[in-house]
Amino acid sequence: WLSRLTQGLTKTSTEIGQQITSVFTQKPLDEKALEDLEDLLIESDFGPQIAADIAQKLSQQKFNDPKDTNAIKAALADAIADELSGREDTFDALSGPKPYIVLFVGVNGSGKTTTLGKIAADLTSKGARVLIVAGDTFRAAAVEQLKVWAQRAGADFMGRKTGADAAGLAYDACVRAKEENYDVVLIDTAGRLQNKQQLMDELLKIVRVIKKVIDGAPHETLLVLDATVGRNALAQEQIFGRQAFVSGLVMTKLDGTARGGILVPIAKASDAPIKLIGVGEDIDDLQPFKAREFARSMVG
Ligand code: GDP
Repeated sequence: WLSRLTQGLTKTSTEIGQQITSVFTQKPLDEKALEDLEDLLIESDFGPQIAADIAQKLSQQKFNDPKDTNAIKAALADAIADELSGREDTFDALSGPKPYIVLFVGVNGSGKTTTLGKIAADLTSKGARVLIVAGDTFRAAAVEQLKVWAQRAGADFMGRKTGADAAGLAYDACVRAKEENYDVVLIDTAGRLQNKQQLMDELLKIVRVIKKVIDGAPHETLLVLDATVGRNALAQEQIFGRQAFVSGLVMTKLDGTARGGILVPIAKASDAPIKLIGVGEDIDDLQPFKAREFARSMVG
C-alpha cells in the first residue's frame, strides 16, 4: 500500500518535495535555507512551533554535502516522524469482543459516511458479518448514501424514518447485533456543529445507551477530520476531544490538499492516536496510519 499512499499524497508531497528541492539546490543548507524550510512547513499547516522545532533539528545535523537534497529530505522525513512518535495506533475491529461496536463522529462533510463504507467493505471482504447503522437520522441523503455503501460492501443496514431518535436506533441495533451474532456494528452519527451542545448531548446519549447493552463504552469511537479544512480540523478535534470519548482519529482527504502538515499538530494536540488516513474516494483509499511512511511520502 506504500505506493498507493505516495500516490494519494501527491499533492502534499509534490508541493513540499519540489519546494525543498528548490530550496536546497539553489543554496546550501544555511540559515537562509532553514528559514525558507520553516516558512514552507508553516504554509503546509504544520504550525509555527512544530515548523521551528523541525528546522532547529535539521540545523543540528551534519550533511557531507549541504546540497544533497535526498539526504536532507530523509533527515526532514525523520524529523517529521519523530514529531509523530507515539501518535499512531492500529484500528482492529476483528480481534476484540463481539459484536465490536464502532461509533463514527465528526462534522458533516468530513468524510464519516465514506470512511464507514470503506471500513465495512474491508471487514466484509475478510468474512466478517457487519451491521451498518444510519445514526444521522436527520439527513435523508446521508442515510441513502450509507445504504448504497452497505449494499456495495455486502453489509446489513439499519435506519429509521427522518427525525427518529438516534439513541433509540443505536440501542436497538446493538441488541439486534448481540442476538444475531454480528461481528461488527458501525454506527454513523450526526455532525451538525451549529448547535454544539445539542450535538454532544446526543452523542453522549448514544454512548450511554450502548453501555446499557454491552456493559461498557463503544469499543472504538473514531473522530473523522477533513485535512483540507486546515486549522478548522484542529478546532474540531478540540471540540470532540474535550468530551473525552474519542479513541482514534481518521484524517481524510489527504490526497486533496497541499496542506497535509495539519495532521502533525492535530496528532500532537489530541489524546487519541491517529489510526487511519483517507487518500481518495475509492473503496480501497483508506490506509492504516504509519507515521514513518506518512512522513516519507509527504516529503516526496
Ligand atoms: P460526511 O458528511 O462526514 O458523512 O462526509 P461524506 O462521507 O459524505 O464525504 C464528503 C465528501 O468527501 C464526499 O464527496 C466524499 O467522496 C469525499 N471524501 C471522503 N473521504 C475522502 C478522501 O479521503 N479523499 C477524497 N478526495 N475525498 C473524500
